[in-house]
Amino acid sequence: MTTTTDEWKPTACILCECNCGLEVALGGPEGRTLAKIRGDKLHPGSHGYTCEKPLRLDRYQNGRAERVLHPLRRTADGSYEQISWEVAISEISARLTEIGVEHGGDAIMYYGGGGQGNHLGGGYSRATFAAYGMGYRSSALAQEKTGEFWVNSSMLGAALVRSDLGNAQVAVFLGKNPWQSHGFPHARTMLRDIARDPERTLIVIDPRRTESAELADIHLQVRPGRDAWLLAAMIAVLVQEDLIATDWLAEHASGLADVLATFGGVDVDGYCTIAGVDEALVRQAVCAIGASDRTAFFEDLGVQMNHNSTLVSYLEKLIWLLTGNLGRTGTAYIPAVMVPLATARKDTSLHASVTPVTGSPILGGLMPCNVIPEEILTDHPKRFRGMLVESANPAHSLADSPRMREALAALDVLVVIDVAMTETARMADYVLPAPTQFEKPEATFFNFEFPRNVFHLRPPLLEAPDGPLPEAEIHARLVEASGALDPAVVDRLATAAQQGRDAFLTAFLMATAGDKRAAALAPVLLYRTLGPTLPEGRQSAALLWGATQLAFQANSASVQAAGHASGDALFDAILAGTSGVVFADDSADPEAAVWRRVRTDDGLVHLVIPELLQAARDLATDAPPGPTQEWPFVLSAGERRAFTANTIIRDPEWRRREPDGPLRISPNDAEKLGLTPGDEVEIETPRGKATARISIDEGRQDGHIALPNGLGLDHREDGERVVTGVAPNELTSAADRDPFAGTPRHKFVRARLTPIA
Ligand code: SF4
Repeated sequence: MTTTTDEWKPTACILCECNCGLEVALGGPEGRTLAKIRGDKLHPGSHGYTCEKPLRLDRYQNGRAERVLHPLRRTADGSYEQISWEVAISEISARLTEIGVEHGGDAIMYYGGGGQGNHLGGGYSRATFAAYGMGYRSSALAQEKTGEFWVNSSMLGAALVRSDLGNAQVAVFLGKNPWQSHGFPHARTMLRDIARDPERTLIVIDPRRTESAELADIHLQVRPGRDAWLLAAMIAVLVQEDLIATDWLAEHASGLADVLATFGGVDVDGYCTIAGVDEALVRQAVCAIGASDRTAFFEDLGVQMNHNSTLVSYLEKLIWLLTGNLGRTGTAYIPAVMVPLATARKDTSLHASVTPVTGSPILGGLMPCNVIPEEILTDHPKRFRGMLVESANPAHSLADSPRMREALAALDVLVVIDVAMTETARMADYVLPAPTQFEKPEATFFNFEFPRNVFHLRPPLLEAPDGPLPEAEIHARLVEASGALDPAVVDRLATAAQQGRDAFLTAFLMATAGDKRAAALAPVLLYRTLGPTLPEGRQSAALLWGATQLAFQANSASVQAAGHASGDALFDAILAGTSGVVFADDSADPEAAVWRRVRTDDGLVHLVIPELLQAARDLATDAPPGPTQEWPFVLSAGERRAFTANTIIRDPEWRRREPDGPLRISPNDAEKLGLTPGDEVEIETPRGKATARISIDEGRQDGHIALPNGLGLDHREDGERVVTGVAPNELTSAADRDPFAGTPRHKFVRARLTPIA
């Protein structure tokens, strides 16, 4: 008998970085089905908004993914055997320690730490990282955002910069289709509002006539991979037509003369021709930007995983900086953060920190995903020999899956912490099971809103089954097994925690202030000592006590303005606020708050990044990328659609439409190849081949095709593993990457198609 309770429980959507608040009513025979789902009106960021994606989230919790419920150890024949937690932790610790003794701890790398909805557990990895002396980490951000982080850090001294689209007069989306990929609260409502308002201008720069482009006042339908020429032409129009904010720049920026010299002589007409965009339309867009004092840009994966990605990030920022669009309502801002996802270095030179084998730049603290195989598959003495992967699936999600699998197989030890038996877990020596995101307290560190920024600690909806352990406990056990934790310190802190927060704060500062090692182990120290004093089931939120102290230190005025008198008060509000809390409020003086967070050495905006300004000059002679006779199509590998999500959704039944994720092609190209919707084609790239069904896309340029993200995963059906759709990274190359950030060009993969009769 199916039952549904009337009790609505707060949680959040885990399918994109917005993490909209949800309410769930449980049902099913055991009350473990996410039977009814609706937006949570009490969530201070999303206020009840959702798109269609979370309504079938039960397919994540109760779908046909191959759930892991016990620690597993790979056997000699490649199968897995169940082992106890004690054996698993002891053996893993011994193997990591052995690598550390023989080769140094930095021969073990850490990958992952969470996806769109789960960063809390990964926060504890920092202690494991320190305990075993690891030196390098990476995550999916290092195949998307690290170029932008470096540009932001170099120009503004802050890794993370966002835009106030809700109040912008001119909103510009670059390589971004927010109708499907969201990325900011109420994306669809906001798009419609801008589109309907005759006083506002919506500009979309995208090779495809996307759902967002359909709403736009101006769609600059750039040729795939040629955004750099388009943006350089836009800057040239600003400079040549004297549309720049001269007074603002004189007060706030350095390096203007070099920028003017670079773009003053650019051939606008020639660059627009290369970009494939009508020059008059480009001038119209630039005039709209130049005439407004409230322009907000949002760049995303369409350009960040494409040719010239870091250069494009730089040019994009130059446009809004040259027009003075920083700090004021409706322009770019730097938010207060709870836990920084990336760190801005003092030394912003590209090679200030590099990987051990290939010498690739480490940006935002993350090594490029694309070089991981090269850092393993070599006889270099500093190669990686061990890897700890947490809540991530590099064998599927990173470029060139065959090469990544080869690299993972070559490691001395691979340990995976995850909920399900993923493509990566199936290569591991040990798999450590974690509860799902609805079976433990969870949170994300995607807290980017402004002027009021929100943090949401989600209470568990369900009890975890016997077997899995929360990541906090897994890391605590790994750290304890390493011998890095001093039991006397743990005892002292545990005693202080029982005495109250003031005593704990004093004891914690005494334990960590002069002791770098203890400070590095802080997440686990907090979990073991403060954790047991927290409300039932919230022990793994202990890490947030440290985060709230640091957030208060860094942005005390903003945190106080949000009603929290101290770090402790904020921590308590987060524990109590089951629908989320506003943790920072800059609405009293947003501009001053933004300028406080501009952390360049002289407090000015730095318009010049020498390598990138040179790259901008080189556009005059660079050969623009395009298809070739051998490879007549450009494939966008990983397009965001109505029913695509990240790889945590393994059950294709989650998709109400297009469960197998067809390859999209223009009507002309389909006709030329004699294809009709539903026909199958072989798609071949320089790296691999696959078979896909096609669908016709009226908004697509000829020569431009696309496959969706999140496909090519398997699930269990009648005891068999069944794969649905094409895994995009079977077709991509890790070598095809940005020269600065090393990010892959997934949105520009040369390809050819052969109809299957
Ligand atoms: S916008 Fe993102 S977080 Fe919000 S409901 Fe849709 S997929 Fe979920």
